[in-house]
Amino acid sequence: MGHNKYTGDLRAVTQYRAGPVEINIAKHSGYCWGVDRAYEQTVATAKTKDNPVYTFGPLIHNPQTIDNLRKEFNVDYIEDVDDERAGPGSTVIIRTHGVPPEMQEQFKAKGAEVIDATCPYVRVTQNYAQLLHKQKYYVVIIGDPKHPEVISILAYAKGEGTVIKGMDDLYKIPKNKRRMGVVVQSTLILKKVNEIVNALLARSQEVRVFNTICYVTTERQEDAETIAKANDHVIVIGGHASSNTKKLAIVAESFGAKAQLIESPSDIDFDKLKAAKRIGILAGASTPNWLIDQARDLLIEHFSNQPVEA
Ligand code: SF4
Repeated sequence: MGHNKYTGDLRAVTQYRAGPVEINIAKHSGYCWGVDRAYEQTVATAKTKDNPVYTFGPLIHNPQTIDNLRKEFNVDYIEDVDDERAGPGSTVIIRTHGVPPEMQEQFKAKGAEVIDATCPYVRVTQNYAQLLHKQKYYVVIIGDPKHPEVISILAYAKGEGTVIKGMDDLYKIPKNKRRMGVVVQSTLILKKVNEIVNALLARSQEVRVFNTICYVTTERQEDAETIAKANDHVIVIGGHASSNTKKLAIVAESFGAKAQLIESPSDIDFDKLKAAKRIGILAGASTPNWLIDQARDLLIEHFSNQPVEA
């Protein structure tokens, strides 16, 4: 293809050269352990069941994967517990974000078999929320109140708590809560969490914090920094609904790289790459590896025949 693959710092990136540009792919790209596990569970279930298999909500924030599941394995998704397709004989797979416990019971009451593919790390956070609530802490969840993971965590605290997205939401916490228990959405940035926890300390006598940020998120944000510092342009591949993908783009831009957030390789805006010398590639935890490979191949194909400046 007119390019040479070579590896530089194996700890951080895989490098390719194509014509005048260098392409650097972050080491931690693509499916995380939890997403991979849920995907494999879904495929294995679909292969063994004769009756319909549904995931509750799209299994992964990645439209191509959702299409493949439908076409290759006949796995569709439902978005409502009242969806009549999830009836006797059907199987409902709970995705990595988890669901409120009563929802699993509702599916079972309708006669569906439930397979729980909640990521074990999210499960730990749900358990902490449950424990804090039982121990009479006022539960504060730092995260996006609309995100399914956060909705499921709050349900484990029996809905009795407050979700704080940022400092502007602090007013939502009722006054005179002397003991607060804090858990965190898996994809958050530690710096933001620190700021909120400090503000909570000023309002309460006791603040018990479980740092439930997933190591995968931290690893990828560190990669985003490494890649952004070493490249002038960064392409972030992931679904538009994926919060960890959006955060990667924010981190990359905060270190001075120009970032493009793309869902599919055909979204790459080559006009914006005209002056590029080094292009970094980052991918969210719900991005399949084949999509990363396609984006890399398209970049290589585009730049391979361009002249190399002397
Ligand atoms: S990012 Fe972490 S918490 Fe989320 S699914 Fe992956 S492994 Fe689980």
